[in-house]
Amino acid sequence: MDRRTFLKIAGVSGLSFAASCTSQPEKTLYSLVQAPDDMVTGKATWYASTCRECPAGCGVLAKNREGRTIKVEGNPLHPINRGRLCMRGQAALQGIYNPDRIKTPLLKEAGKWRPVTYAEAEAILQAKAEAAMRNGNGRVRMLTEVVGESLLNLARQSLENWDSKGPVIFEPFGYEALKEANSQVFGLDGLPSYKMDEADFLISFGADFLETWLSPVEYARKFKDMHGLRWQNKSLYFHVSPYQSLTGANADFWFSCNPDSEHFIALGLLREGIRHGNGRSLPDKLRTAIETVSSPYTREKVFELSSLPPELFDKLYIHLQLARKPLILGTGTSATGANCLQANIAVNLLNLVFDPDLERIDFSNRH
Ligand code: SF4
Repeated sequence: MDRRTFLKIAGVSGLSFAASCTSQPEKTLYSLVQAPDDMVTGKATWYASTCRECPAGCGVLAKNREGRTIKVEGNPLHPINRGRLCMRGQAALQGIYNPDRIKTPLLKEAGKWRPVTYAEAEAILQAKAEAAMRNGNGRVRMLTEVVGESLLNLARQSLENWDSKGPVIFEPFGYEALKEANSQVFGLDGLPSYKMDEADFLISFGADFLETWLSPVEYARKFKDMHGLRWQNKSLYFHVSPYQSLTGANADFWFSCNPDSEHFIALGLLREGIRHGNGRSLPDKLRTAIETVSSPYTREKVFELSSLPPELFDKLYIHLQLARKPLILGTGTSATGANCLQANIAVNLLNLVFDPDLERIDFSNRH
């Protein structure tokens, strides 16, 4: 190598060495001014809490380092999720650290959102509420998501101070149709839990219990217990819905039907059940009412209304009739059509006709 080439190579490698040595932009770490009593630097602290990503309320353990939550795990001692969390629960941490999260209150002006300080937002809220209050009682309304009892009481108190009624709670994936059906058929105000793990045959009319329905982590566990191989036997799961959800994809058989036609199929099954003597122990008046309402829904009529072929309807009915411990679930959260209430009423009646003692519906343990 001649002297000139050597100097060239030495110059280039010197440059790259110098580049790798440039200092990184300065970062500042702020220590807590007043650390929690149980915080020990370098040691993790675990706090038990509740996941609020959906109304199921699974138990979580939040791992904290130096006063900051860095991971959430399922609480193994919690009766609902028994140590498991769903994807939404695992992602809850993003609510604290995601750079795209909303960090301040936003004020809409001329169609655009402007970040404001909390002090500014509180002052605007106070002024508006007091102005509304001067116009009479009940002039302030508050809309909230599903919140815990303490926060709800705080909201109620604030509204009382403004001479107004409690907040309106909005849950995007509501269960109003199922609640109403429970009230009409069982006289129950609320949502019972389902002993899916004790069933030997499961039909879902769209309830996507592995995704969002009621308490997905709890039902994923119960479904595994019900559907797994036990003593060389496996309980069957049939899913009836217009589209194939993730839950439907896990079924042994998916019965496709027209959108919002699930109630016709449930009524057809009711008709067959009553015709073959199921639900004899029900009060005569109720049995006659079920017979009257379901009598038009022959397998041909069901096909005409739902597009479910008669041979598939027979398959569904025969398995239901042969099951010793059937359980039927209502419609899914994201497919609430105009006939959702009818479908849930028909499903509740199916449970009554095929399991008159309702052994797999737990009214003492509600969601
Ligand atoms: S089901 Fe998922 S999102 Fe809902 S409470 Fe449990 S972990 Fe949270």
